[in-house]
Amino acid sequence: MKNLKEYTKYLRENRLRDFSVYYIDEVKRLEIPLVNLIIKKGIIKSLTDESSITMTMESMGRFLVSLEDGTMIENTRKSLKLWEEGKIPMPGIGKNDILPSDLILIYAAQKKAVFHFLPDFSNDSRESISIIQAIEEFFTNAENEAVQMLFKIQKETELQLSESDSIKQRLLAIAEASSDFIGFADAKDQHIMYINQLGRKMTGIGKDEDVTKYKIADVHPEWTNKMFRNEIIPVAIKNGLWEGECAFIDRKGRETPVSMILMAHKNAEGELEYFSTISRDIREQKFAEQELKSVNSFLDSVLENIPNMVFVKDAYDLRFVRFNKAGEKLLGHSKKELLGKNDYDFFPKEQADFFTEKDNAVLNQNDIVDVPEEPIETKNGQRWLHTKKIPILSPAGRPRYLLGISEDITDIRRAKLDLEQKTKELERSNSELEQFAYVASHDLQEPLRTISSYVQLLASRYKDKLDKDANEFIEFAIDGSKRMRLLINSLLEYSRVNRIKPFEWIEITDVLKEIQVDMKEQIKEAGVNIKHNGLPKIYGDTVLIGQLFQNLIGNAIKFRSDNNPEIKISGKRKNGEYIFSVEDNGIGINKEYSEKIFIIFQRLNSREKYPGTGIGLSICKKIVERHGGKIWVESEPGKGSKFYFTIKATT
Ligand code: ADP
Repeated sequence: MKNLKEYTKYLRENRLRDFSVYYIDEVKRLEIPLVNLIIKKGIIKSLTDESSITMTMESMGRFLVSLEDGTMIENTRKSLKLWEEGKIPMPGIGKNDILPSDLILIYAAQKKAVFHFLPDFSNDSRESISIIQAIEEFFTNAENEAVQMLFKIQKETELQLSESDSIKQRLLAIAEASSDFIGFADAKDQHIMYINQLGRKMTGIGKDEDVTKYKIADVHPEWTNKMFRNEIIPVAIKNGLWEGECAFIDRKGRETPVSMILMAHKNAEGELEYFSTISRDIREQKFAEQELKSVNSFLDSVLENIPNMVFVKDAYDLRFVRFNKAGEKLLGHSKKELLGKNDYDFFPKEQADFFTEKDNAVLNQNDIVDVPEEPIETKNGQRWLHTKKIPILSPAGRPRYLLGISEDITDIRRAKLDLEQKTKELERSNSELEQFAYVASHDLQEPLRTISSYVQLLASRYKDKLDKDANEFIEFAIDGSKRMRLLINSLLEYSRVNRIKPFEWIEITDVLKEIQVDMKEQIKEAGVNIKHNGLPKIYGDTVLIGQLFQNLIGNAIKFRSDNNPEIKISGKRKNGEYIFSVEDNGIGINKEYSEKIFIIFQRLNSREKYPGTGIGLSICKKIVERHGGKIWVESEPGKGSKFYFTIKATT
């Protein structure tokens, strides 16, 4: 059975040129950095020219021999040793230029070339497999050994570097990895000596581009260059350092705002040598500042235009740090006068004490405090405020500021007080009036009774004994006293409406039934038809509600038309109240009187045709109001009237 030795012999003796060319192609394909470097340094011109092929054939011949006699690993070791000792005479290629990956790739190319010609040598698969296994073993061992040796050599080399060299290298590595712009420039002609990776990006200078052809002015916008001339360089030279904001510009003219530190470096003789800079991209910071500015100006304009007084006090000493326009107007002091001062600078001590106490409560409880009413002395006199005080916390959760929002409630408060006063007065005068009406009507009944009984006595005794005029006068007197009794009774009824009686559930249908029984004669005589259905139950004073319906129905009958008089009563619940209507098709009411008719003793028609006192609807109004409702009429003369009233729903 043929073996690896025979195969390598075959390659060496019959296929050395093909093998070498194939190997060269593979090396080219893999783009091995070390090989590229060798070409770049001009050690070999090209891989494919005849001399390279001859050279390669020589070295590949040696390689195949080492495979044949098993000295491959040993040879590798030897050649690496030569590298280590710097004995490989390749100008410009140092120990550290060779990478483990270079070795691995070279081995890969060799291995591929060795495998490639195997089918030409043997078509026995068992034979091929055993050769492949032997090749694999050789390469694996050689690769391991070589890489490990390389690591060892390079580590030693690194240690041999002088300390300052290694510090320099480390600094360079840090500079390259830095996320700040780092650069140096010559002080004489200001050409750039070094720019780190990030700096190249910021200035648009390519990775492999030579930075030394650029000057400081090439990488800054004009406005920064002006600063350089007028301020940055003079200050840096004078103080050794300049610090501030400026910008870089890239090849396309795009600016990057930076915060820059520029240092001027001098040599031992004190002569200026070069500048160095560390600059940080502040685009995001600028953007955030911009955002903050616009948010702030938005908030400012909101605050300024809020109609309420808004102020901010420093939590530490309760001095005003912010004040809006409404606040200035209210207090009569300008922002200038107010800012930086505290309450004791403006208000009487007692008041300042009160405010300070509330402020401290807000800050101590860390919670909103609501002061519904507080007096405040302003330049324009006393005002009343409704104030909310709110603590504003620092990120650590401690009160930093105190925000106050005050509404000037002086006018509302005055109006409220006035209203309360007026309501009280009205209630008093109403009850006085009722009292008066009651007493008057009650006390009037007695003399009235005397008058009417004596007038009646006069009539029964002297009728027909006196002359015709006297009879008529007696009639008038009797009529008058009857009418007076009616008025007095109505007045008494009116004055009794507000006497408090307990409310109860009232079935309106039942109320109407009773009324229809009581008014049976009247209804029959007038021939009116009364319709109603599905009326709701309400909560109220049964007697008064009965009286209310009776008055409205009574009026509808009294002011009926001759044609099929009809009364429709309806009611339903709507939005927290009951709304009822009593509608007739009677004589109607002129629109201009639709309010007047609810005033006591106001009537529109003659007493002869339509008897009455003019008190019915005013009693209705009082009853409805007593039940938290309103009453009104919609009517058209000649067509009929529809009286509406509401009753407040309690559930
Ligand atoms: P009275 O019925 O005693 O005159 P009211 O206070 O009940 O007093 O009514 C006041 C006035 O309103 C009546 O005189 C009448 O002119 C008018 N009025 C009331 N109800 C009706 C109605 N249903 N149709 C037309 N006019 C009415």
